[in-house]
Amino acid sequence: MGQAKPPIGFAPAFGDGFEPAESPTMSDVTDQDLADRLRTAGVSLTLQRLVIARVLLSRPVHLTADQVWGRAREIMPEISRATVYNTLDLFERSALLRRLIIDSEKVVFDSNTAPHHHLYDASTGEVVDIAPGELRVIGMPSLPPGMELEDVDVVVRVRRREG
Ligand SMILES: [Zn+2]
Repeated sequence: MGQAKPPIGFAPAFGDGFEPAESPTMSDVTDQDLADRLRTAGVSLTLQRLVIARVLLSRPVHLTADQVWGRAREIMPEISRATVYNTLDLFERSALLRRLIIDSEKVVFDSNTAPHHHLYDASTGEVVDIAPGELRVIGMPSLPPGMELEDVDVVVRVRRREG
């Protein structure tokens, strides 16, 4: 049965060749941890949601919806794009994720929901967190009447120097 696909499992067993650093989707976070996080956020558990939580919530990541879909399919090949998109909306509404709009064509889902700023590399499309304290916003405009401040997030855009 060497050709059989491994079963879709919440906690796959890895052989000696397993290298955690090489895997985009695995970490020390157990599926039980992820299931608890979903339940705490009021999200009822399905296998698909757990797979997507595995992709996004087991470590800090910034992924586009299609990147999430690609990684989810590595775990569950039959998962549909619509399921992934609907689940991303659900996770965002449940405060498990933040949707970070870089520009009209680039939206990433951020599993770090604490307030923080980002560095965006326009050459590679990569989005990374700026370390806490490395960038501080000084001063704030007066807010329109009846408004309260929700969030301030800064995207520092960089690109490779030419030559
Ligand atoms: Zn971030």
